[in-house]
Amino acid sequence: MRVRLAPSPTGTLHIGTARTAVFNWLFAKRHGGQFLLRIEDTDRERSKPEFTANILEGLQWLGLQWDGEPVIQSQRIAEHRAAIQQLLDSGKAYRCYATEAELTEMRERQAAKNRAPRYDNRHRDLSPEQEQAFIAEGRQATVRFRIDDDATITWTDLVRGAMRWSGADLGGDMVIARRAPADQIGDPLYNLVVVVDDAAMAVTHVIRGEDHIANTAKQLLLYQALGLPVPEFAHTPLILNKEGKKLSKRDGVTSVSDFRQQGYTAEALANYMTLLGWSPPEGMGERFNLPEAAAVFDFDRVNKAGARFDWDKLNWLNSQVLHERGPAALLRELTPLWGAEGWPADGQGSSADPAWQLQLCELIGPSLTLLADGVEQARPFFERPELQADALQQLESPGARPALQALLERLPEGPLSADQAQALLGEAVTAAGVKKGVLMKTLRAALLGSLQGPDLLTTWLLLQPSGEARGRIARSL
Ligand code: GLU
Repeated sequence: MRVRLAPSPTGTLHIGTARTAVFNWLFAKRHGGQFLLRIEDTDRERSKPEFTANILEGLQWLGLQWDGEPVIQSQRIAEHRAAIQQLLDSGKAYRCYATEAELTEMRERQAAKNRAPRYDNRHRDLSPEQEQAFIAEGRQATVRFRIDDDATITWTDLVRGAMRWSGADLGGDMVIARRAPADQIGDPLYNLVVVVDDAAMAVTHVIRGEDHIANTAKQLLLYQALGLPVPEFAHTPLILNKEGKKLSKRDGVTSVSDFRQQGYTAEALANYMTLLGWSPPEGMGERFNLPEAAAVFDFDRVNKAGARFDWDKLNWLNSQVLHERGPAALLRELTPLWGAEGWPADGQGSSADPAWQLQLCELIGPSLTLLADGVEQARPFFERPELQADALQQLESPGARPALQALLERLPEGPLSADQAQALLGEAVTAAGVKKGVLMKTLRAALLGSLQGPDLLTTWLLLQPSGEARGRIARSL
C-alpha cells in the first residue's frame, strides 16, 4: 500500500491539505504502507521555495513524517511530455489551435444561452490541410485529450461508495498541455501530470479532498488511455466554516503555521484534524494521538458530509494537551516566548532560576488554553502590574491597609515555606483585628494588582525570594 500527499507550493500549508495529510498518514500506518510526498510545483509563476519549506516544516511539526525523498514534480516534465506524445501518437489526444479570443467568444455564447461552459470539440478532427493553415497563420496549439460524451465513468470511492460520471459532464475534450508552437508540447497540466506521477510512484490509494471528484473522473479516462494500473480513491469531506461554507482565507487562520503562531500545539491540531470528518470508534473518546488513531483508522468511519470547523473543540483539545504536559515540558515551550518578552530581565533575581520558573509553570499550567496564555499569565510574575480599579477599591475597604501593614511588619527577607506564610497571615490578622478573608483579598490586590489570578499563597511564595512581594505590598499601603 502506497499513498501520497501532493501539495502545490503556491501557499503555506493549508489546514485542508494538512487534514488530507493526516488521513493519508493514518491510512498508511494502519496498513503498514508508505506515505509519500510529491511537491506539485509545475505552476512556475505561483510556486515558491519558501512555500515548499513551509509545507515540509508544517508536516514535520505535526508529526506526519513522509517516507523517502519528496518527489519534485517539475523534475519529471520529460515523463509528462512522453505520456502526452503517447496520447498524440495513438490519436487519443490532438492539437487544438483555438485562440483564447475564440474560446472566450464560445463561452460567452454558451453563457447567453444559460449553458455550462464547455469546449465544443471544434478542432477534434481537423484535416492535415486545416492544421497547416492554422500553423501558417502563426497559431500555437494546446494538446487536448478526447472525452467521449457517451462514456460512463464509475468507481467505488472508499468514502462515498459507488460513483458514476458521464463523459458529457466533463466539459468537452480536456487540455493536457498548455499552448505552444505546434511542433512542441507546452507545459503539461494537472490531470495528466497527476496520473503519470501517481502511476510512476506506484500509488495504490489516492486520498484527497472531495473538490477533486470531477478530476478523478477525468483521470480515470487518462489511466485507461495510457494503459496504467488504476488506484483506489477516497474523497474526504471539505472543511467548512461556521456558516457551513468551505473554509477559506477569509476565515482568518487557515494555515498550519498560523495555528502554531497562535499558540496551538501540534498534538492538539493533529488530534483535531483527525476528528474533522472521522468519528473515532465508541469508547475511544476525542483526545488521542496520531498513532492511537492510526491503530483503528478506516474510511468507513469517515463522513460524507462536510466537517464544520469547531474552535471550541480545538481549544478544548489544546488545553487538554497543555494540562497533560508536565511543568518541565511546558517550561521548554514557554522559554522562547518569555524570552521574546525580555523575561527574565538581565538574568537577575529568582525569576532567572529554573526551579522558580518550573514552579511558575506548575501554577499557571492548569489554566492555559493556548501556549500564548502562558505569556499573559506569567506577566505579573515578571513585571510589576499596575493596581486595577478592583484592587484599589479593595485597598480602600475597612481594615484592609492595617492588615497589610501588619503583614509587612512581620515579613522576613528571603524565601518562605507555605507553613511559614500561613503562620504570618495568622499573626497579622490577629494583630490587625480583621477577618482572614479581608487580608487574603487585600494581599491579592497588592501582589497581582487585581482580584483575579492564580492561587494566592503560591503567588506570594513565588514573589517572596526576590523581595518583589515586599515591594508590591509596600507600594499598596
Ligand atoms: N496539487 C493538488 C492539490 O494541491 C493535488 C491534488 C491531488 O491530491 O491529486 O490540490
